[in-house]
Amino acid sequence: MARLVEIASRSRVAVEDEEYERRLAICSGCPDLQYGTTCRHCGCLVQVRAKLADSTCPYPYASQWL
Ligand code: SF4
Repeated sequence: MARLVEIASRSRVAVEDEEYERRLAICSGCPDLQYGTTCRHCGCLVQVRAKLADSTCPYPYASQWL
């Protein structure tokens, strides 16, 4: 997983560790996180998505990351 995060961060702006951990903490408490890794709404690995600065939480009608 760390390798995937590193690869994804090469070509896109990444958030600082504090914001990354904040986003992941929200995901870990979200009922739509599947298998501890995958967002039900976008099908992406949240450990990767949360690292990218321009990513948003796709929760319907209201981002959970705000
Ligand atoms: S809906 Fe948002 S908070 Fe929930 S798992 Fe997906 S990205 Fe994380």
